Amino acid sequence: MKSIIPYGRQNITEDDIQAVVNTLKSDFLTQGPKIAEFEQVFANYIGSKYALAVANGTAALHLSAMSLNVEPGQKVITTPITFVATTNCVRYCGGEVVFADIDPNTFLLAINKVRNLLEASPKGTYQGIIPVDFSGRPVNLEAFRKLADEYDLWIIEDACHAPGGFFIDSNGQQQKCGNGNYADLAIFSFHPVKHITCGEGGMITTNSKKLYDRLCNLRTHGIQQNPDFKLYNHGGWYYEMQELGYNYRLTDIQAALGISQLTRAEEGIITRRRIAKRYNDEFAGKSFIKRQSGLVNGHAYHLYIIEVEDRIGLYKKLREKNIFAQIHYIPCHLMPYYRQFGWQERDMPNAEKYYQHCISLPMYPTLSQEEQQYVINTINAFYKS
Ligand SMILES: *Cc1c(COP(=O)(O)O)cnc(C)c1O
Repeated sequence: MKSIIPYGRQNITEDDIQAVVNTLKSDFLTQGPKIAEFEQVFANYIGSKYALAVANGTAALHLSAMSLNVEPGQKVITTPITFVATTNCVRYCGGEVVFADIDPNTFLLAINKVRNLLEASPKGTYQGIIPVDFSGRPVNLEAFRKLADEYDLWIIEDACHAPGGFFIDSNGQQQKCGNGNYADLAIFSFHPVKHITCGEGGMITTNSKKLYDRLCNLRTHGIQQNPDFKLYNHGGWYYEMQELGYNYRLTDIQAALGISQLTRAEEGIITRRRIAKRYNDEFAGKSFIKRQSGLVNGHAYHLYIIEVEDRIGLYKKLREKNIFAQIHYIPCHLMPYYRQFGWQERDMPNAEKYYQHCISLPMYPTLSQEEQQYVINTINAFYKS
């Protein structure tokens, strides 16, 4: 293959381009009607009551942590196998990140490790949990909610990898990622490698009116958006800043792209699942490859990850052949920034072992069958030689 095959990439159509152009020609480039429209169609898609569009996934995490009152001295539990933005939102608010190890079979935050932490300390030690639907594999939030309720904790679901994914609850019902039935807040990103893109963009979903109202204010400088809750009124020009917020707004240009992209979200997931099935069929029974076990129907397949021996060798071979596979992720607790808080090697044995062997193969809706076969052939040839 002459051209580079990345691990993930956006899919922009003529319709997407036209939607952006139309907004550029309209009266509002930001704070116009496209934002509310995007929020509405996104909430419908995810099945949540409210959705709040923000500048990016990191801003969504930051505002979520703020709205749940993370402060210095508060401890929040999360997984080391995620993008650093997940953990950083706790630090933005001065809170303390406490890592719990992953389940080596699913690569997700292990609920029994979280339980061990909670049981080892007096109640009130921890404030919240941030599970991640890592790779697009949905966390069983029903189980996490039960545990969180026992200890009076909130949950932020980092669903950046899983819009359109779902798990099956104990009543046999599909529970879509981010639908707000179990987590207090869920967050999404619209970076180009994610399922749908706005260039940059993010969303917070929730079923809580109270949190939604607070988030609306925090997104725009902490200026009270609801006229009923203003403390004073000086006249028609009057606005009132009640707490310290940010400008974390999305533009209408980005929202127009998001709305157009969302119309193909379901189609994109179906293609991702078909690509995953092909990899699964090809790799089944190959002893040199370990896959995420107990595959679930609701997997959104943001990433297709395998664990292999000689991962560095395979990574280099793939690069040589223009296949830009990636490693997701370097464990967060081993980042120099987090080491200053005392985290070190051997703290998270499952995550560290996973990191030695994992590699994310190309996975995106426009990956052609021919390209996928080329990836598979290259891997098979590497382990035969
Ligand atoms: C992409 C991503 C983020 C951050 O989103 P941005 O839009 O890039 O700020 C957070 N968490 C996870 C798991 C992600 O994949």
